[in-house]
Amino acid sequence: MEAEKGRAVTAGEREAWMDLAVNMAKEALESGEVPVGCLMVYNNEIIGKGKNEVNETKNATRHAEMVAIDQVMDWCRQNKKEPKEVFANTVLYVTVEPCIMCAAALRMMSILWRIIHWYVNFISCIGC
Ligand SMILES: [Zn+2]
Repeated sequence: MEAEKGRAVTAGEREAWMDLAVNMAKEALESGEVPVGCLMVYNNEIIGKGKNEVNETKNATRHAEMVAIDQVMDWCRQNKKEPKEVFANTVLYVTVEPCIMCAAALRMMSILWRIIHWYVNFISCIGC
């Protein structure tokens, strides 16, 4: 069940968000990172997005999901929203199953997941 508030999310919007997450993953790959991208959608609005920034920042915790979580926290501060309520109604679109660190953080934030099974296909294409 999708928890985005407001009007129903159309299949086209969902597909567009998934495409954006894939593009974030491609950007990560082009900059020498593990190709993971994600979006966080609240009330039909993208309020956080991230791509892996581990090598760029030399910080092993800068996974796409953690980058996006920080953006959502900033959005909450700027819009005077309660993070707990926002995260509970936010859907994550991510290109690969989150690692244990990100999964734990997402679980703590009560974020819904929508995983795109693109990574495996993309990697197998690299090996062609
Ligand atoms: Zn992670």
